[in-house]
Amino acid sequence: MNNKCQVVECRSCDVIVNIKNGKTFFADKGIRMPLEKDVLTFLGENNFFSEVTMHRPSIRNNIIINPTVSITNKCNLNCEYCFAKKYRSKKDVDFEDFLSFIDIVKKYNPNFEYMKIDLTGSGEPLLRFDLVKKIHEYSMNYSALHSKMEIGFTTNGLLINKNIKKFILKNKLNIGISYDGFTNKEYSKRINETQNLDLLYKIKGLKKRIGIACTITGGERDIISNVVGFSKIANAITMKLVRPNTDSSLSSYDVEKIKIQYTKLLEFLIFEILNGDYSHIMKLISDEDIFGKTIRRVFSGHLYSNRCGGGVSKSSLTSDGNIYYCGAANYIEFFRIGNIKEGIFEEKVLELMEIQMSRSNCIDCWAKFICGGPCLIDLHQRTFNSISKDYCELSKHLISLAFEFKYIIFNNNQRAYKLITGKSHDLHYL
Ligand code: SF4
Ligand code: SF4
Repeated sequence: MNNKCQVVECRSCDVIVNIKNGKTFFADKGIRMPLEKDVLTFLGENNFFSEVTMHRPSIRNNIIINPTVSITNKCNLNCEYCFAKKYRSKKDVDFEDFLSFIDIVKKYNPNFEYMKIDLTGSGEPLLRFDLVKKIHEYSMNYSALHSKMEIGFTTNGLLINKNIKKFILKNKLNIGISYDGFTNKEYSKRINETQNLDLLYKIKGLKKRIGIACTITGGERDIISNVVGFSKIANAITMKLVRPNTDSSLSSYDVEKIKIQYTKLLEFLIFEILNGDYSHIMKLISDEDIFGKTIRRVFSGHLYSNRCGGGVSKSSLTSDGNIYYCGAANYIEFFRIGNIKEGIFEEKVLELMEIQMSRSNCIDCWAKFICGGPCLIDLHQRTFNSISKDYCELSKHLISLAFEFKYIIFNNNQRAYKLITGKSHDLHYL
């Protein structure tokens, strides 16, 4: 049984992870491999080695769904790491196509309770503010009679004017603002100093409605300052790594520096929480932040058979009427899972899900039931031969920090532990 386990050594605790079934056991420091006989007996008596059956997620009857409609492929910026530049020439989505797409999504999930339509995809959604308003109106009318449906989008914010601001506030929309940081080194892959100041001015007064979407690229960055600064201008924080396989992808050196930054961030969060301040942690676990999401997964104790809701709760409509696995898969033929005329190609979705679930690169990784495996799009770009070892190292580092966090908060602040665990079980954030 020993060879099925790995001890993850954290600063304050050791966590025994069963690689076969994903179960974890938190212990005080001092557990070493091979596990001693009495530890094995104890674990055995507590079902640590029992079989766990992972079910394949179904594309039908999801309660929460997040379709993406890439309303435009055009953009008013030219970010260095943008993966969608090559689609700029394509036309915008037709409203009629949008309706057909939503009908398909509804047909698959007739009992959904919440549908959040993401209008982002491959361009700047505010270039088609007319379509944003029209789709919002449709979603409001639908919600009045049926289940809750609402829109959201991530914008670079530079087109926000008085009208748009009024519309966001009046309709209580929650939007993402792409914003990579406050210093030139942080934002210069997207915007210049003037645009940076302009953006901060434009989003004034929208704090409650904003989540910051920050892309972490290589170079100097102070993540604690980012979190504190973003908190002052937004209600939620999402920091994600720049995609591998792009001109801006992270080097091993960058990853090592980012690991140190996250270790410091954890110390900062623990200090705050033990002093009764939950403001930053709550903003980090409220959206798609890489660390926040990892914390939610560790606190909830759920096991993940795949990384994301691609093809299941997520699907994406492009302007040519095709449907893709998720917004990042737009226009990549391998990830085309249907179109508005023929609907969803179920066999194709199952094929993609099979690749996700088999996680052939992750078989012996202790982190696989929390990490969920690599992003299929990144893997496809590597022709499925390998994963990015550096990105995996960072993933595992974040999981071990989340273990440490859970152990310390559980033992020192039950109120915070319950708050974080409660949020971690909320299906809207999974
Ligand atoms: S993607 Fe990497 S870190 Fe994640 S489970 Fe697979 S091998 Fe582990
Ligand atoms: S396939 Fe990759 S980009 Fe698409 S939803 Fe999953 S993790 Fe995100």
